[in-house]
Amino acid sequence: MLDTAIEYLKGVGPQRADVLKKELGVFTCGDLLFHFPFRYIDRTKFHRIRDIQTEGEQYQIKGILRRLETVGEGRAKRLVGTLRDETGSIELVWFQAVQWLERSLHTGKEYVVFGRAAAFNGRFNFTHPEMEEVTAENTQSARTFDPVYPSTDKLTQKGLDAKGLRKLLRTLLDGLARTEVPETLPDFMLDAYRLAPRWEALQKIHFPENQQELDAATRRLKFEELFFLQLRLLQIRRRRKDASRGFVFDKIGDCFNRFYHEKLPFELTGAQKRVIREIRTDLAAGQQMNRLVQGDVGSGKTAVALMAMLMAIDNGYQACLMAPTEILAQQHFSNITDLVGDLGISVGFLSGTVKGKKREAILAELASGAMHIVIGTHALVEDWVVFQKLGLAIIDEQHRFGVEQRAALWKKGAGLPPHVLVMTATPIPRTLAMTLYGDLDVSVIDELPPGRKPITTIHKTEQHRLRVQGFMREEIAKGRQVYVVYPMIEETEKADMLNLMAGYEALSRDFPAPEYQISIVHGKMKAADKDFEMQRFVRGETQIMVATTVIEVGVNVPNASVMVIENADRFGLSQLHQLRGRVGRGAEQSYCVLVTGFKLSTDARERIQTMVQTNDGFVIAETDLRLRGPGNMEGTQQSGMLRFLLADLGRDGQILTAAREIAARILESDPALTAPEHRRLLEHLAVTGKEARVWSRIS
Ligand code: ADP
Ligand code: MG
Repeated sequence: MLDTAIEYLKGVGPQRADVLKKELGVFTCGDLLFHFPFRYIDRTKFHRIRDIQTEGEQYQIKGILRRLETVGEGRAKRLVGTLRDETGSIELVWFQAVQWLERSLHTGKEYVVFGRAAAFNGRFNFTHPEMEEVTAENTQSARTFDPVYPSTDKLTQKGLDAKGLRKLLRTLLDGLARTEVPETLPDFMLDAYRLAPRWEALQKIHFPENQQELDAATRRLKFEELFFLQLRLLQIRRRRKDASRGFVFDKIGDCFNRFYHEKLPFELTGAQKRVIREIRTDLAAGQQMNRLVQGDVGSGKTAVALMAMLMAIDNGYQACLMAPTEILAQQHFSNITDLVGDLGISVGFLSGTVKGKKREAILAELASGAMHIVIGTHALVEDWVVFQKLGLAIIDEQHRFGVEQRAALWKKGAGLPPHVLVMTATPIPRTLAMTLYGDLDVSVIDELPPGRKPITTIHKTEQHRLRVQGFMREEIAKGRQVYVVYPMIEETEKADMLNLMAGYEALSRDFPAPEYQISIVHGKMKAADKDFEMQRFVRGETQIMVATTVIEVGVNVPNASVMVIENADRFGLSQLHQLRGRVGRGAEQSYCVLVTGFKLSTDARERIQTMVQTNDGFVIAETDLRLRGPGNMEGTQQSGMLRFLLADLGRDGQILTAAREIAARILESDPALTAPEHRRLLEHLAVTGKEARVWSRIS
């Protein structure tokens, strides 16, 4: 039955089938079974009228209809009733079907009334409540826990509103035999985690009789969802480890040693050393490395990346480093050229703006092997970039690269795919990392270089602008530099641009030349102009940098000590944290000033407070995940992996951890899942395997 086309379900037919397919992607009865309610209306309880206290909340009450009359004229004409129980009375209002309702409702009778509380003139009323006369039978039938399904206008026009869908689901479940919904989890797991059987869970997720049944069903289905995802990810990881041969870099040679002893201008932090060791072990293991390095802004990922590249060079291979923007790539290029100095390593730069003879020369050197390291933008993945022997590809701020771009880099290896190191400054909550990068190895640089003072973050409303400016002046007088950042998003680009320019002009008045010099950088400028302005700021020729979020990632100006973020409430948490990370890079005390209007939404207030309270990227990431949900976290939008039916990585961390643990244990003892007690797992993986293959290649 589950494979049957949806038009053949009783009550559907060709027309409704058409909208079900178009609007909900429901093609078969099986699809419908997995169209879960998004909420439930608890009609198992009756409220007393006195207890109606929350606007917008739905209530079921029971009482006598005391009054019913039509008031008003024309469009204002409405039917008004009063319902009374032993605790009080509430007004009921209808604007439509007035005549019909007036005929069918009767004062003096008892009704079950279901409606949403609206506040009007300081009192609550129900507009268009559902009314049902109390008779011997229906007081029982009204006691339900009703599922509410996501629907659309087009579906509603075909009679498939929440109620219509409810009826279809009832029909489907009534006609479904238990054998058609096989159990997917082994009995020992059901026992160990006290999970409801699948059949029961699918029944109860649609039609629970009470909250407990609903909770049990939800937990079981979430567990299943997360468990199979983890099982697949861990399988992929095992297979990759077993099968994907990689270059062996077992030599620590001249380049690495001379750099370490002669060039490195600081002592590595313990965390940097640990991560470099982890990378070194990977590179020598004979398998392709796929490692994610997470490290908060300023944790020193560049040095780690460079030392990994030096290992490749010592073993006779080339390395590349890809950054998401021109500015960042440039900055990496100049940092790294400075760091390697006269070690005799050839470092090149390649981006879309490198053209003609210059480009040809670089391409020739890459093809011949004369160039050891190339740093650039996504231009590096273009077909016309050919390496002699690419052994290591490093991707900085990986979430800005599409999956395809990463995959393209793989193909550039010499026979084997290059080792891949992905670096991100966006700390990812553990639950998300387990899923998004479940098949990657993860290193964390969880220590900042010594001597850094934690950044002080302050929230100021617009009325305090003068004080903010006074503060900027003080810092500039001490020889420091200041960023002033404005939001810029596509949807409101024009207004944002005006806002940015107005801010720039105001600053130019308040910080006049020649005493002050101001740079401005935004996305609409040509790359060369941006770079020019950026460089002026980097060299300290300008004291203030007015910018949009183009400076968000990576830019390193240690002398900058103040980050002023305008309209801070419009930024997401991870963005705010990234921006803040632009300061506090030198030894000076640094500040981040979040400027907002006086009124803030609850979420915005929590974001701002989180920023004021903590500098810990992981804490911020967890809060972000909780506030926004995983689908909206930066870099995850395109990830099909996070499209769960029920599971929510922000809330279901415990279930996820348990699911991952048991998945790991099972694979440890029975990698091929051939043991009889794992038969159900193997069968379920075979059924759902096709979808999984798509994203198994992602990393
Ligand atoms: P990120 O992880 O944000 O990419 P960077 O690699 O840009 O950080 O490093 C930030 C700054 O810290 C740079 O100026 C770098 O030279 C410096 N740095 C990195 N590691 C250390 C260290 N172990 N000790 C002192 N300074 C360091
Ligand atoms: Mg960096």
